[in-house]
Amino acid sequence: MSDRRPLYAANWKMYKGPSETLDFAHRFIELYAPHEDRDVLICPPSVSLVDLVAALGLRPDLGVGVQDVHQEVQGAHTGAISAGMAADAGATWGLAGHSERRREFGDTDALVAHKVARLLEADMRPVLCVGETLEEREAGELTVVLARQIAGVLGAIESEQLPRLSYAYEPVWAIGTGRTAEPSDAAEAHAIVRAEIGRHAGEELASAAVILYGGSVKPGNIEDLMAAEGVDGVLVGGASLDPESFSQICSAG
Ligand code: PEP
Repeated sequence: MSDRRPLYAANWKMYKGPSETLDFAHRFIELYAPHEDRDVLICPPSVSLVDLVAALGLRPDLGVGVQDVHQEVQGAHTGAISAGMAADAGATWGLAGHSERRREFGDTDALVAHKVARLLEADMRPVLCVGETLEEREAGELTVVLARQIAGVLGAIESEQLPRLSYAYEPVWAIGTGRTAEPSDAAEAHAIVRAEIGRHAGEELASAAVILYGGSVKPGNIEDLMAAEGVDGVLVGGASLDPESFSQICSAG
């Protein structure tokens, strides 16, 4: 067992506006008692950040994060929100590089690096998401893809900021598909991610880095995934939308 602090994170994607967010928060607080040994994080749509922060006000064990921020500090970018705005709304964490952002919005490694830099400037804790598509996996490119995604960001960030990053390994073929990686697949990929972090940030930081697994995590597979070597937590999409199932997930491991 490592001394890395487990992190259980919810990514709500484009689900739950303010009203549904409040319903979730009230029920989740009833169901999930604080656990001293772990962090829990919820990333709602930006429009629900303020309400979620207010609803979780008496639960400092429950963090709130933003799903995405613009790569610039501010400007004429209709529809976008900045890291500073998310921090002002109460977010203390931020996802960067989620595969849906990469696929649907064209977030490149360089863009993701800028977004991580903005999150850090706004005093938030970035969770850098990486992962391969099925085609890349089948072409034997797992290591190359993960190495490229990690190098693209870590090579562009000031070294003193690197300890503030956490990571999520999310095989794209397992996101929202119901198809979970085997614990052994997760362990293999997490070892690659950790080795690549080590290459840029040194062994000490690599062994302290929290690396989440994401991809169809649910109450029925959480124990096996959390038991896999090098898995320090989970990033959960679909199963985090229901307070009962997310509470079960956060209580496991
Ligand atoms: C995600 O959105 O990061 C994710 C892992 O989704 P799901 O749990 O639905 O596969």
